[in-house]
Parts: sequence; C-alpha cells; structure tokens
Amino acid sequence: MDEILSYRQYVRPFYVMAKPAGARCNLRCTYCYYLEKSNLYPAAPAQTMSDELLERFIRDYIAAQAGDAVSFAWHGGETLLRSRDFYRRVIELQRRYADGRQIDNSIQTNGTLLDDAWCEFFRENGWLVKLIIDKIAVDFELQQLEIPR
Ligand code: SF4
Repeated sequence: MDEILSYRQYVRPFYVMAKPAGARCNLRCTYCYYLEKSNLYPAAPAQTMSDELLERFIRDYIAAQAGDAVSFAWHGGETLLRSRDFYRRVIELQRRYADGRQIDNSIQTNGTLLDDAWCEFFRENGWLVKLIIDKIAVDFELQQLEIPR
C-alpha cells in the first residue's frame, strides 16, 4: 500500500499574543482591564519580558508550529514602551530560529508613542501595525498638543 499516513492535514496553526511590556501602559483608560493586573507582579513591577524568556519564547513558538508560516502578535499594555532595540532583537532571534519558515509580525499600539523612527522601523521590516484609537486616547493626544476639545 503506497498511501502514506500523515497527520499534518489535521494540525492547525495556533496563535499566542506576547506582551513584552506586560500590562504596563502610558495611558490609564478608566475601563482598562489591565489596570488591576499591575497588582499581579509585586516582585517585578517593570513587567518586562527578559532577554532569556524572549529567546525561549521565539525558539519554542516557531518549533511548535506545524505550518510553513509563523505569525507573531505583540500586544500590550503598550508595546512601544519597549525600545526599538528590543524589537530588533526579536527580528534577529526570529531569523536565527526560523528554519526556513516565513515569519510575520503584527503589533498593537495605542499610537501615542509612534513617531517617524517607529514608522520607518515598521515599514523597513514589514510589520503590520494595529492602531487602537478610542476617545480616551484621542483626548490624551489633544491634551499633549494642547488643542481645545
Ligand atoms: S490604551 Fe489600552 S492598555 Fe492602555 S490603558 Fe487604555 S485600554 Fe488599557
């Protein structure tokens, strides 16, 4: 019998939202369900993903995927509280562990820290940026710009 039994057709990709800045955010929207989360880590108030954890996450997440494409989703709190050097390290590790797979990145941000340098970084690296805009964030922006509402 030439038929080869393969389980690959039954395996589906799965997605994990990584939170490299934990629940930290530069806004404090009254309805935010992350506000109370800062109480979860009294021993680590910075809530930042360490370099060791980042490498382990990227290596194991890629290795655990069944398909040829791997999607990373970076969420907050506010993701841009981490530096561009942090995300450059992300890209470096993804290349190291890709093993021939296509890697995609999407990142969610409230947009208040976006500037030309961030936009250039995302454009250069082909990242999908999910901009979350709501009334609170818009009010914050207008306050920063001292534009009357
Ligand atoms: S922008 Fe999002 S993460 Fe930040 S305080 Fe508001 S709802 Fe929470």
